[in-house]
Amino acid sequence: MEAIFDIPVKGTTHSVLHEVDWKNLPFGRYVSDHMFICQYKNGEWQDPQIKPFQNISVAPTMLALHYGQSVFEGMKAFRMKDGRINIFRIEKHHQRINASLDRMCMPPIPYELFATALQQLVSVDKDWVPEGEDVALYIRPLVFASEAKFGVKVSDEYTLIIMTGPVSTLYQKPIKVKVERHYIRAAKGGVGYAKCAGNYGGAFYATQKAREEGFDNVLWMDAFEHEYIEESGTMNLLFVIDEKLITPPLSDSILDGITRDSLLTIAKDLGIETEERKISISEIVKALDDGCSVEAFGAGTAAVVAPISVIGVDGELYHLPTYTNGSVMNKLKKALEAIRSGRTEDKYGWNC
Ligand code: PMP
Repeated sequence: MEAIFDIPVKGTTHSVLHEVDWKNLPFGRYVSDHMFICQYKNGEWQDPQIKPFQNISVAPTMLALHYGQSVFEGMKAFRMKDGRINIFRIEKHHQRINASLDRMCMPPIPYELFATALQQLVSVDKDWVPEGEDVALYIRPLVFASEAKFGVKVSDEYTLIIMTGPVSTLYQKPIKVKVERHYIRAAKGGVGYAKCAGNYGGAFYATQKAREEGFDNVLWMDAFEHEYIEESGTMNLLFVIDEKLITPPLSDSILDGITRDSLLTIAKDLGIETEERKISISEIVKALDDGCSVEAFGAGTAAVVAPISVIGVDGELYHLPTYTNGSVMNKLKKALEAIRSGRTEDKYGWNC
């Protein structure tokens, strides 16, 4: 990893690295020692710094708190077989954060700033990158409207913060999902494709209700017919029906997942037939009723893949077969992990 320019670093004098229980890294428990911070003012990003992770002080009138101009990313850095650290697919995450920023009337981040901030921050906290299978350093870039002004308007000032923390993969056990026919996550023409704060806050209510009913997550349907499958929680959805990998096509109501894209690319290379097309829940139910071989799984940075064991549809529970090592899902997961850990050639140029 080579930095393009040097960001001033103020190192911590109170590292909390010794507090980490490396055998137990639940998502979100630990935050690494340092953070990157930078301000957007007078039309440009300025004053980039790396400093000890700390609280920030904000005005109660800060626009992001009131009107929701806040977007984020979720990325991972991996320790490779040879000890080097790889930040996975910086370029694609950069494109996506800029697409989210654009949708929320927020200024783009230049690639050099984004990539250098990530590389230098991860390098400063390199001892926080865990070693082994199913673990990584999670990276959270966050941009929010930091202008203090009482009134509905597009902010003229923004803050970019990048923070990190070691994690193990989410959902190591198969999950139960509930088809949501009433509440929606995103609609045509809305902001579903942006990784903006409100999409997550807005999803909590239906997710809480599904949890009270014993499910792990909601399976979001389209906002119009409530019949076509969109996403689940913070994951894209993929199905394997009779050996074909099928996933809903990208649209303005679906986040362009980097795991989804990586798995589709790998699948095509492995000679697996792929289809990006609309999938109705009735098609899945029919395939299960007809005894077809069906796999269903979520794909996302936090979980990598999350096998689905049960789908609840209008009060009926549909059980999926257990996922063996030979399942398409596990083959794709292994192939992706082999690239990220440097065990196979990175022919797509994804490791940075
Ligand atoms: N959909 C939503 C709504 C998400 O929040 C995420 C997580 N970023 C995903 C899908 C999966 O995207 P990725 O593979 O890039 O993590």
